[in-house]
Amino acid sequence: MNSLDFKTQALVLHKTPFRDRDLVVKLISQSGSLMSVLFYGGRGGGVKKKSSLVEVGHCLNLNLRKSSKLENNLLTAKEWSLKWSPNHIRLNHTAFYLMSFFSEIFLKLGQEAHDYEEDEHKELYIILSNALFYLDESVQQSDFKIYAHLSTFLSKLIYQLGISPDYESCYNCSKELKNDFTFNVQNGVFSCCENEGFNKSEFESAFKLYRKLKSSFSLKYPQSLEEDDNDYSVSKNLFHFFCYQYQFNPSNYKSYSLVF
Ligand SMILES: [Zn+2]
Repeated sequence: MNSLDFKTQALVLHKTPFRDRDLVVKLISQSGSLMSVLFYGGRGGGVKKKSSLVEVGHCLNLNLRKSSKLENNLLTAKEWSLKWSPNHIRLNHTAFYLMSFFSEIFLKLGQEAHDYEEDEHKELYIILSNALFYLDESVQQSDFKIYAHLSTFLSKLIYQLGISPDYESCYNCSKELKNDFTFNVQNGVFSCCENEGFNKSEFESAFKLYRKLKSSFSLKYPQSLEEDDNDYSVSKNLFHFFCYQYQFNPSNYKSYSLVF
């Protein structure tokens, strides 16, 4: 056994054609690490016309090699097989956009974070695999609600990244949040003391966000999806809050305008 070889399971986030038949692929491993992997012959085709197993959203069993010759931590796939793939997401263009958005969020997060270590982020992998599995299932069952899936994914991600807003009490007076409170997306704080100039719909959207955060942290997939009322403003507030935390620009996400 070569000590530079290792096995892992990983989800495909992005692929770029390379030369005639090869691919350079970004994946998140089951330990939550972002990896760049070169797949020789990964594009399929060739004499046997084998179709490619390497598609965004697919979960692969991988046998990987680390090479000291290659720079940029590029790994080489020695062997790969399909562990799981969504069979229905591609039949619904909105669900497909959402899958692309999930992948893009993970790609940017990995690029910016630079601190993925073995097993430390395995919960992130679990969030993405759950999100894709239940997204696929909902399309199959004709029960796909885009914002229920998006807000559940984002609230779980935010919680796991340790950046969740405090939804128990008012930022200003520390009292328990009851009614007529607001949410400041930029600072990520709820407040019952800064109500001046806010209207009813803004109170309502802050309340929906509060309720989503609360339920999403206590409920697992798919219960957290079932409890969701598919509200656009909750997803949008969560995403903009997430972007402020990491100083990402929402408009830099290619799939942003396809989802919102
Ligand atoms: Zn207050």
